[in-house]
Amino acid sequence: MAALHNRDESGYNERQIMREHIAPSASHPVKPDYVEYLRDESRLVGRADTISFPATRDELQEALRALAAAGTPVTLQGGRTGITGGAVPLGGHVLNLSRLNRFLGLRHEPEGNRFLLAVEPGVLLSDLREAVTRKEFPTQGWSQDSLDTLELFRRQGAYFLAPDPTESTASVGGAVSTNASGALSFAYGPTRRYVASLGVLLADGSALSLRRGGQRAEGLQYRLQAEGGRTLEGRLPSYRMPQVKHAAGLYVEPDMELMDLLIGSEGVLGVFAQVELLLLPLPEQIQGVMSFFPQLSGALSFAERMRSLGTAGAREGGPAAREGGAAAIELFDANALVLLRSQKKHNPAFAELPDLPPAEGAIYVEIHAEEQERAEALLYSLAEALAACGADPEASWIAEHPRELERLKELRHALPEAVNLLIDERRKADPAITKLATDMAVPCPELNGVVSLFQRSLEEAGLQYLMFGHVGDCHVHVNILPRGVEEYRKGNALYQDWARAVVDRGGTISAEHGVGKLKVPLLRILYGEQGLEEIRAVIETFNPGFRLNRGNMVGWGG
Ligand SMILES: Cc1cc2nc3c(=O)[nH]c(=O)nc-3n(C[C@H](O)[C@H](O)[C@H](O)COP(=O)(O)OP(=O)(O)OC[C@H]3O[C@@H](n4cnc5c(N)ncnc54)[C@H](O)[C@@H]3O)c2cc1C
Repeated sequence: MAALHNRDESGYNERQIMREHIAPSASHPVKPDYVEYLRDESRLVGRADTISFPATRDELQEALRALAAAGTPVTLQGGRTGITGGAVPLGGHVLNLSRLNRFLGLRHEPEGNRFLLAVEPGVLLSDLREAVTRKEFPTQGWSQDSLDTLELFRRQGAYFLAPDPTESTASVGGAVSTNASGALSFAYGPTRRYVASLGVLLADGSALSLRRGGQRAEGLQYRLQAEGGRTLEGRLPSYRMPQVKHAAGLYVEPDMELMDLLIGSEGVLGVFAQVELLLLPLPEQIQGVMSFFPQLSGALSFAERMRSLGTAGAREGGPAAREGGAAAIELFDANALVLLRSQKKHNPAFAELPDLPPAEGAIYVEIHAEEQERAEALLYSLAEALAACGADPEASWIAEHPRELERLKELRHALPEAVNLLIDERRKADPAITKLATDMAVPCPELNGVVSLFQRSLEEAGLQYLMFGHVGDCHVHVNILPRGVEEYRKGNALYQDWARAVVDRGGTISAEHGVGKLKVPLLRILYGEQGLEEIRAVIETFNPGFRLNRGNMVGWGG
């Protein structure tokens, strides 16, 4: 049980500290660093009795076994950047995986010259990106094969992890658990596509290994063998997933690879203890263009044109992508631009953002290509499309060098951060409110219709809002910014109405953030009670009693 009640670096007993937080009126002083572990970026605050920070796979397994023997509910945490409350505990024990953060080794597959990096789940995306870019890894404990592969890797050109979630303090385990996406997912797809193998620990501590190209369902029947003899078998849910970018509920398809059932499962089926990720060669030519439009409709038309800008093959994410095209197409509406301008003016943390010109909408396009000639041809088509959609190509910003590209990415990242700061400020006056952030995607022919619906209903309701995000994937985040509890209620009601409208049009209620604890009612709108029951049946097989990540995806106890 050592792992469960470790002393933290601070020297305090973790079990005791968590108790203090749950009962802040106790005579012991409250340690603010542990209060943090009761919440994630959704700002939902949970409760828990104990917490531990296993630092090795063995400690993690030992903790899971002990917790299973005691029948204790367990909530998994990675970077706690999730915005649906998935890492927020509903009692029991918190297993924080942030110290399971070793790079485990590198493998090479000569066919396709593929490099695969194995890591523990607590490795942060920012650390992974930096290590891959610099080709410098903490190699302690690596096998000779891995060290040799690293030498080979260093002799190649630059590589990257293609899914590019905006929040880089997220962990690999969290990204796999939510099947996270980012701006580059327009061309390269979500995290799922880059997971080559998974080492999973089930809620009772038994181990399961899964790999791409491995175990498959037969129709909707699944059967997996865990190490130690436990058989997991049953029937997959019968729902059909929406044919859009989608990250809500269990991934299900007849004859599917069973690793895909685990990816995006939000920790309700097992703990990812080890993840092997496919790295891609970085394209030779990368250019970012930020353009400003006098009308939002012009920005949306431009996005539509950019969707067909030579993406053929790029969505395969592999070498076929090398012919180039748009890799990211990101929207900022007028309100988003206003908020960024205001943050730049008033908040020193945003002082370095570029000066944004007045506009009703802006689009960031990132072009990836191998040949300079091809990149130039793509830029030429882009400029033509800009002129046709009412924007001045001369007023666009072009970023070619890594630092300039980084600046435009920082601008994009600054937006959700600015929204969170604004809401935190408002919560001081009214703690009952939170940001209401949609994560819905629709089939592309439906995009303009739902954007009009969002705008019309928000303006009729008199709510403050902004829109931004992955318009290339017809996936636009609407952030409603309530100024009080009444507006929060109105916004929440709108959110449910939109979910029905989006589902009616063949869309999804979550394209990248997952369901967590906050979006269970929306998943019910998508799949109905029967769909949720079918998911519960799979959970019960993997995770009897729903002890692990209780409440995620399908809720708990009404
Ligand atoms: C400013 C901002 C921008 C964001 N931008 C994006 C974006 O562009 N794209 C996107 O997809 N998301 C985005 N997010 C959401 C969030 O970053 C992602 O959901 C991310 O993948 C969560 O990773 P995490 O390590 O923080 O996980 P956590 O929040 O700690 O956990 C998320 C879920 O994963 C589970 N989990 C964690 N580790 C494991 C594990 N090892 N095994 C099994 N389950 C586990 C948790 O229990 C929880 O259910 C953004 C968030 C913020 C705050």
